Amino acid sequence: MRLSGSSQRNRDRRRAAAGVDPIRPATVSGVSAEQPAARGGCLCGAVRFELSKPPTQAGYCHCTRCQRRTGTASSAQARIDGRSFRLTTGEDSLAAWRHPDGGFEKCFCARCGSHLFSRNPDDAAQMSIRMAAFDEDPGVRPSWRAFVAYAAPWEPIPDDGLERHQEGRPR
Ligand SMILES: [Zn+2]
Ligand SMILES: [Zn+2]
Repeated sequence: MRLSGSSQRNRDRRRAAAGVDPIRPATVSGVSAEQPAARGGCLCGAVRFELSKPPTQAGYCHCTRCQRRTGTASSAQARIDGRSFRLTTGEDSLAAWRHPDGGFEKCFCARCGSHLFSRNPDDAAQMSIRMAAFDEDPGVRPSWRAFVAYAAPWEPIPDDGLERHQEGRPR
């Protein structure tokens, strides 16, 4: 349910009266009591994560690195603010690999091989989550196709009207 401005204020007043800080969600042993905006994880269940904010943009990447990593023609991913991301379990099962020529670190489950997310090692705010790693529909839809100049010859890019970029799409 979405609260209107006034009922949100009333709720905040009640929370304040109850001694609950209206700005910061109540926490139980360091875990947010608020529902996460999205949850996800790998196929074997070892690695689990959640987002405090829903992703707002997504796209397909047709680069040759994504083709190799995923074994498919493109990778669908949602760009997120890495500060809204939290690993809930499986840190010891999480593996990361960075191409020697640079780029984002690609993170996957070392047990089952599921691709999970990528992140900029120099800027924690820049992350992308693999769309299929979400448990449920994250709401956002891909709106662009990047690196189309390198698209797999065996799968034509669909004529879906999405924004196309020959190289990467600027963040
Ligand atoms: Zn796994
Ligand atoms: Zn790519």
